[in-house]
Amino acid sequence: MMPAARETLHSWFHRPWFLAMMAAVLSATLLLLGSMGLALHQVQQRESEQMNAQGERFLERLEQLFGQLREGLDELEAQPVRGCNVDMIATLQQVSFSYRFVYEATYIDSNQSCSNRPRQDNLSSVGPPDIKGPTYSYWLNTSTEPNENRAVLMLGRGNFRVATSRGHLTDMVDLTPGSSLLVVLDHGARAIPVLGATQPWPPIEPWPPVSRDALLVTQHQLIYRMPTNNPEYQLVLMTPRASLQVEMTTAWRWLLPISLLLAIFIGWLVLQLARQRQSLGGELQGALRRNELQVLYQPIFDLNSRQCVGAEALLRWRRPDGTLTSPDLFIPMAENTGQIRQITDFVLQRLLEQLGQLLRANPHLYISVNLAACDVMVPRIGQVMARLLDLHRVAARQIAFEVTERGLIDVDVARDNLQALRSAGHQVLIDDFGTGYCSLAYLQTLPVDCLKIDKAFIDALGHDAASSGVAPHIIRMAHALQLKVIAEGIEYEAQASLLSSEGVNYGQGWLFAHALSAVQFIELITRGRRVATRRLDDEA
Ligand code: C2E
Ligand code: MG
Ligand code: MG
Repeated sequence: MMPAARETLHSWFHRPWFLAMMAAVLSATLLLLGSMGLALHQVQQRESEQMNAQGERFLERLEQLFGQLREGLDELEAQPVRGCNVDMIATLQQVSFSYRFVYEATYIDSNQSCSNRPRQDNLSSVGPPDIKGPTYSYWLNTSTEPNENRAVLMLGRGNFRVATSRGHLTDMVDLTPGSSLLVVLDHGARAIPVLGATQPWPPIEPWPPVSRDALLVTQHQLIYRMPTNNPEYQLVLMTPRASLQVEMTTAWRWLLPISLLLAIFIGWLVLQLARQRQSLGGELQGALRRNELQVLYQPIFDLNSRQCVGAEALLRWRRPDGTLTSPDLFIPMAENTGQIRQITDFVLQRLLEQLGQLLRANPHLYISVNLAACDVMVPRIGQVMARLLDLHRVAARQIAFEVTERGLIDVDVARDNLQALRSAGHQVLIDDFGTGYCSLAYLQTLPVDCLKIDKAFIDALGHDAASSGVAPHIIRMAHALQLKVIAEGIEYEAQASLLSSEGVNYGQGWLFAHALSAVQFIELITRGRRVATRRLDDEA
């Protein structure tokens, strides 16, 4: 992206109204999508439950039906009357009478047939059975016409056939339009509708002969397989998912306003936060103008000789009322608003103004400057630095740069800029090492000279430094990678000597000195004072 375009985009992101709008639109989208998903899930759940209940009722009734049809047939087969005569009609009527689900009973032999319900197209005129078992033959859906009295299931044994009426199935369950109850035969190859219309078969490819889930949900259909024990056939109920549309529209009616209200609220919150941040940002801008920012220098010592070798530049924000704002508070904010660039420039300029002469007089002394993530992402710092060094006639090796692991988000870009700084003669350090994500693999590829072990690991060494924790491992690793090590936050002599014995060359911390004003730091150096025993006072 063009730098100008990026700059414009950047400035947009600092407008509270723009941020609030973005937040509102984003949260509205997320809320709507989320709640729709939830509603959809609920509708599907309800659908499945209904289907399960319907399927179970069907199965129960089918078992009753088949049971009675078989019993009726057995009774007819067992009695002695054969041939169409008055006795036969009476027997047939009697069977249909005593079995509630036997609607029609018929006797058939090669030359005649008779039924308890005399009519034209009696059961003898139906084609070959759909299933032929050893004892019983089954006809499924002998008629697809929606006549309540027409046979829907028929069983045959010997010369007898018995059938139940469609009404005996439909009185149990109300089949919604477009639904079908099917008997699936031949291991899923064939499906015969018992109730409802013929369906394209199979509804899913391939039709699983066995499945643990009773319910299959496709885009348009719910398919319920009834758990029967018979391997010869499966009972399947298919229903279109038409209700989904309607239910979703109803859900939409209350989801939309609620989501919009919530989104407006979130937008409002973001607006307030952004305004607040902008006001802190504004304050910081004023602080820079009014010279409320101060640079202090915390001396860094050689742990062996206890000589001061340099210092780390640390910012302070001293408000007119005397209160100090911690850099831990305003630096991250300045990183967000982009003011950090101005701040870094200020630190570099102030440092050379204050210590230029000292550095020229002590060529082995160096000052370490903290860089923010965005300072590392562009080559700007190198240019600013070169101009200042030239102006103050200070050598590049006297300025080191500290980068935190957080500042190395885009390692590839950072690597180039760090390499440029090193090529110019500066030292590059990784600050707060061990607290970020910097892996060994990364570390090896990074152009750095030195690791600064985070204070947390030094704290872990304790007063007496008997337990050593992770610090020695970090030190060994750094040495293996040929990196120098600085320890920060040394507060006890035991820590200093342990670190020194582990091969750490340099350290800083309250044991030696707090952050000093420029005047104090210059005094420390020019008097060549050793600070092994005496601790200097803080921030005069
Ligand atoms: P840092 O760079 O890790 O700085 C070390 C911090 O530890 C400093 O806090 C320092 O005062 C403190 N410290 C040093 N020795 C001891 C000790 O023995 N005990 C204890 N408890 N603390 C000790 P400070 O000055 O508050 O700075 C906090 C952070 O703010 C710095 O961490 C650095 O990340 C950031 N910062 C400070 N100045 C600048 C700056 O000019 N630019 C940028 N980008 N960041 C800065
Ligand atoms: Mg630092
Ligand atoms: Mg640090």
